[in-house]
Amino acid sequence: MTNAEKDCRQLWAKIVKHRDRCCIICGSPGNEIFPLEAHHLFNVSQGNWPTLFDIDYGVTLCKDHHEPTPKDSELFEKIVARIRVKDEERADKILTRANTPITPCVLTFDARLVKRILKQQWETIEDSWMDDGIECGYGDGI
Ligand SMILES: [Zn+2]
Repeated sequence: MTNAEKDCRQLWAKIVKHRDRCCIICGSPGNEIFPLEAHHLFNVSQGNWPTLFDIDYGVTLCKDHHEPTPKDSELFEKIVARIRVKDEERADKILTRANTPITPCVLTFDARLVKRILKQQWETIEDSWMDDGIECGYGDGI
């Protein structure tokens, strides 16, 4: 992994965790034993590179729900259902991706462009965090 890719991955994870603010399965705000982790909904090592730096394809899970890496369809469906409550368009985008055959490919990306996009997203999310004081980005009903 190049430094540029590492930087972008870290920024992506930071944005995803700040947007969600809790494990989207159990609502945990994270703690020392089960800290929050950003999870890629699609296995990027299988060539799903277009989803790597897109925050729409990332969700926050506590370490308890992230290990072992959730790949089972039941958990995936649960996650999509949680997202649908908040953002129907994003849930549909995820399902479309899930139903699109993966074309194996090599990761190529413009690190400066990706960083610029992520930094803009970070600023938006940081502002909304300060404004509304909500603890869990997915509301209640957990
Ligand atoms: Zn959890």
